[in-house]
Amino acid sequence: MRMSRYFLPVLKEEPADAQIVSHRLMLRAGMIRQQAAGIYSWLPLGWRVLKRVERIVHEEQQRAGHIPMLMPTLQPAELWKESGRYDDYGKEMLRVRDRHDRDLLYGPTNEEMISDIFRTHVSSYRDLPLTLYHIQWKFRDEVRPRFGVMRGREFFMKDGYNFDLTEEDAKHAYNRHLVSYLRTYERMGLRAIPMKAEGGPIGGDHTHEFLVLAETGESAVFYDSRVADIRLGERTIDYGDSEQCRAVLEEFTELYARTDDTHEPAVFEKLVPEDRRREARGIEVGQIFYFGTKYSEPMGAVVQGPDGEQTPVHMGSHGIGVSRLVGALIEANHDENGIVWPEGVTPFHVGIVNLRQGDDSCDRACEELYAALRAAGLDPLYDDRDERAGSKFATMDLIGLPWRITVGPRGLENGVVELTSRRSGQSEEVASEEAARRIREIYAPHLPKDVYVG
Ligand code: ATP
Ligand code: MG
Repeated sequence: MRMSRYFLPVLKEEPADAQIVSHRLMLRAGMIRQQAAGIYSWLPLGWRVLKRVERIVHEEQQRAGHIPMLMPTLQPAELWKESGRYDDYGKEMLRVRDRHDRDLLYGPTNEEMISDIFRTHVSSYRDLPLTLYHIQWKFRDEVRPRFGVMRGREFFMKDGYNFDLTEEDAKHAYNRHLVSYLRTYERMGLRAIPMKAEGGPIGGDHTHEFLVLAETGESAVFYDSRVADIRLGERTIDYGDSEQCRAVLEEFTELYARTDDTHEPAVFEKLVPEDRRREARGIEVGQIFYFGTKYSEPMGAVVQGPDGEQTPVHMGSHGIGVSRLVGALIEANHDENGIVWPEGVTPFHVGIVNLRQGDDSCDRACEELYAALRAAGLDPLYDDRDERAGSKFATMDLIGLPWRITVGPRGLENGVVELTSRRSGQSEEVASEEAARRIREIYAPHLPKDVYVG
């Protein structure tokens, strides 16, 4: 993308009404525009990050064997009356009436609808196990939408649902989801700690939330400091291997880590040595649930088992806050000059800054670099505007691309360009081809995998 042709409405001033850094930076970097309380337009730069996050979620879900689909945002009220949640959900649910006086609602989640699809099309245990998921806009009429996309009213969420014959199989699905979520966050360059949580309106007491530690987080968290050091890393996971998935869950959850809903001070003090006790704040970026037959029973999601008897299926649901993650990523990755994107989610892979636009050799070197990077399947952002160097650098720092290549007349005389890391601030002078090669190498592990994402 050429900056001169792009739509990047960066703000010069600090936005007055944004309380936390991610919200401020998303507004300043021209990523979002608030349209109503808790409802946002995703401007081109923000849209790119949202799509990168979405793609990683798709890839990791499909790697775990989960099947993508898409359900609508508007749902008929009847389905929710069947489960009894139409009234229970209360004012958070946005209710709509159509021209025929039929009651609809803007879905806050999809347990009812997926159960309806399941009961219509699946009748035998032979079709199990099954996990279906989608990534779709949700609406919850939050009392206090705030912090930008972190607590919106309309937000983008991945929600998945597993259907299993037995509790044992459903527990495997739960463990498999936990592992796939750990991988998902790690690929984004985030550390999210699974913590024992409460079911809330989804239900069930077998549930973990994933929390990113951040001062601005809305949840109080209590944990053993060692839990923050555990990584999945590059290990190979066989998602069909229930023993392996269970072992990973155990490794990540055996140390004390709880949110305020489940925190027990006496247990905390008993299990965790004093020097390892941590009290902090966290952002909830996902949650997984096992709730047995809570929805399948009232909604008749049953299958014929191996002995011919009809049994309600065991279910769980699993959510990742895709739009909230964009905010959480910024909370965890910024400095005083702006955002510092991890390579896995950056909106553009590298910025090219032309220090003397209109100078033949600078323009030519930039064009060649731009073409070479694009030919390698990368997205460079080329600042080809006729602006001062200082202002070009400030914009690049604000929008946070992890790498910058600076092309200037003096360097070119010596056959070099400057390659700068946004995170460390360190620069190196290298030949232009070498800069392109290094960028290709850095991004090789981050390029999209071969899955269908629509
Ligand atoms: P919270 O406790 O933050 O209100 P929740 O527990 O009600 O969230 P879930 O039903 O578990 O939310 O939804 C799955 C994920 O969707 C959450 O982990 C969170 O990342 C995201 N999410 C939930 N509510 C919002 C919201 N209002 N704005 C943005 N993301 C949200
Ligand atoms: Mg939750």
